[in-house]
Amino acid sequence: MKLLLSEEHYKNLPNSSPFISNEKFELLKKFIVNCKKELGVKKPLQIKMKAKRDGELATFAHYDLSSGEICVYVKDRHIGDIMRSVAHELKHVEQHLKGMLNADSGNDGSPHENEANSFAGIMMRKFGKDFPEIYEDYNSDKVVINEDKNSATEYIAYHASNEYFTDFDVAKISNLRGDLYGKGFYFTNNYNYAKKFGTIMYECKITLNNPIDLTNDSKAKIHLLKLLSTINDISEYDEEYINDSIKCKNFTSAFRKIRKYCSFMELRELFDGVIGYSEEGGREYVVYNSKDIEILDVVKL
Ligand SMILES: [Zn+2]
Repeated sequence: MKLLLSEEHYKNLPNSSPFISNEKFELLKKFIVNCKKELGVKKPLQIKMKAKRDGELATFAHYDLSSGEICVYVKDRHIGDIMRSVAHELKHVEQHLKGMLNADSGNDGSPHENEANSFAGIMMRKFGKDFPEIYEDYNSDKVVINEDKNSATEYIAYHASNEYFTDFDVAKISNLRGDLYGKGFYFTNNYNYAKKFGTIMYECKITLNNPIDLTNDSKAKIHLLKLLSTINDISEYDEEYINDSIKCKNFTSAFRKIRKYCSFMELRELFDGVIGYSEEGGREYVVYNSKDIEILDVVKL
């Protein structure tokens, strides 16, 4: 599927994409115009929306220096994530037009990459104020990408802190909120809830391939019974409590009780994190390994 979105053909543009609702598609067009205005980029642009990540598109989005085309992967992605990708690539267009790009520009952590990420973050916040509907469904645990049910699943989520840091250090892994879902790095897709935990907001892409998913009835049951089976010595009372909780779908209570018997190390051998409900709506993601966290944007609130 290839959709050509060229500014000069705005009037003739198809008003739909099989992967984006008409309303969201209109918002995307507005967003692109806003980004271009902000960047002072007047040149007409070709933006291809693709449903397959292959060849030229190994990542979520790509700007081809020679053809000047932007490709963005749109299938099963939240409109907010698509917009973020497009804004990031549009910043590269501006950098390119100013003759700033070089061979290392695309590397993670390069100044040009950081600039593109922060531009995308700024544009999203500005646009989100006028069109809050771009955040719709974020709270329903929207999967950023899930091409194959058994492969990596990535989420955009927030973590607020009072400290600046450049990576999530396992040595500083939080115990403070241990009562909720246990030890781990805590993230949520509920931005307003995240704000309560600090004045510096980290927007991250997290990957959970094999989490204990307490928000999915069938998975939660399997995951919890698997954990229960690894425990050698458990009181009869606790075992009954856990089994009853699972039967009644009180997965969080069951998990809390099971954790009395499992160390963080043991949990981490079997799973890479936990997905649970946040206390104020939305999801809570607990990530066990730093390598599964990519910081996209850091903002002082
Ligand atoms: Zn880039």
